[in-house]
Amino acid sequence: MSTLTILQRGEPVLSAIAKPITNVHTADIKQLIEDLKATVAQANGVGIAAPQVGKSVRLFIMCSAPSERYPDAPLLAPAVIINPEILSASTQQVLGWEGCLSVKGKRALVSRHQSISVRYLDEQGQAHQLTFTDFLARIFQHELDHLDGITFIERLDHEADAIDEQTWRATMASNNDK
Ligand SMILES: [Zn+2]
Repeated sequence: MSTLTILQRGEPVLSAIAKPITNVHTADIKQLIEDLKATVAQANGVGIAAPQVGKSVRLFIMCSAPSERYPDAPLLAPAVIINPEILSASTQQVLGWEGCLSVKGKRALVSRHQSISVRYLDEQGQAHQLTFTDFLARIFQHELDHLDGITFIERLDHEADAIDEQTWRATMASNNDK
């Protein structure tokens, strides 16, 4: 298990449509899963998608836990999500702050479906069908976007709507004082 370099926005692989995984049991995929888990843990992220480490395949990890970056995140054991699909989504959209390990130092309010029904395979190749809401739905949509070549910056009306992390911290701190 080793940590991998996280690519930054502008790398072509982050704008590419990733390919479905046809066999989850190969040594390459097992290695990639272990390396992604190590990489996202070291970066204190709540998710990471394979294209962020230069692998253009439809796989991401969700690993929500409260942290300095996301104090209100629910606790979720790292989940391996392969060939994900959104089956249906709530019409209700909610705004929430997002950052990205591939867009260092930026935060923005992004609109996402509040609830989504999804289907995916886990690392054993087992199919899962379930519903995610709120923060977990947000992570899932953010990571799925990476598989379609989209970062959260492309979800904004204007790139300038992203603020730098220091300004974001100051805003959050003053909100917490109220
Ligand atoms: Zn991201």
